[in-house]
Amino acid sequence: MNKPLILVVEDDPPVRNLITTTLKTNDYRYLMAANGETAILEASSHNPDIVLLDLGLPDMDGVEVIRNIRSWSNLPIIVISARSEDNDKIEALDAGADDYLTKPFSVEELLARLRATQRRLSFMTAEMLAASSVFVNGKLRVDYAGGCAYLDGRELHLTPIEYKLLCLLSKNVGKVLTHTFITQNIWGRSWENDVASLRVFMATLRKKLELEPNFPQYIQTHIGVGYRMMRIE
Ligand code: CA
Repeated sequence: MNKPLILVVEDDPPVRNLITTTLKTNDYRYLMAANGETAILEASSHNPDIVLLDLGLPDMDGVEVIRNIRSWSNLPIIVISARSEDNDKIEALDAGADDYLTKPFSVEELLARLRATQRRLSFMTAEMLAASSVFVNGKLRVDYAGGCAYLDGRELHLTPIEYKLLCLLSKNVGKVLTHTFITQNIWGRSWENDVASLRVFMATLRKKLELEPNFPQYIQTHIGVGYRMMRIE
């Protein structure tokens, strides 16, 4: 199997060197771009497996790079942002980024995110091949066609909103979904109140889904950002 090709978009040389050294020593191939224009060009001409994208670029906003790439490709994008750019991070996820890393990040964290994204990719491919309308993750099984969900073989008694939430999260397994993305999909709008309701529905869903709701296995909270369904090995 070919080594995965990663496009590293970062204008800060020390950070770029840290990333590329990590990639090199961990059996990845990489391409580099120091600005948005080069990033778009490299992404379209080399078809990388994953893009690592810094949001603060000298020539354009990283979110613009995501919108451009999303207009022609679904290739996974992991955003890299400074803590002060929290709103940009959420905007980036809403624009179609798959995951994010906050600076400063550790080499282990970078590698973990890359592995998670690769798993998500291989899972999506397998799912498309099976053309299945049933989602299985650990002990959870969602039968999209039948409109019901099971945990360890027992049917979960979910309200319509809880079921919609579960479907949305499972169809995007491994991907961080923002509050805005979720409320838009569930209620068709995103008001302050909807985010509060979302929290309530998520708590009731977790009570039914998680063995220990205080230590959730399936649904991870990203404080101030949103939620993600984890893929259970
Ligand atoms: Ca930068």
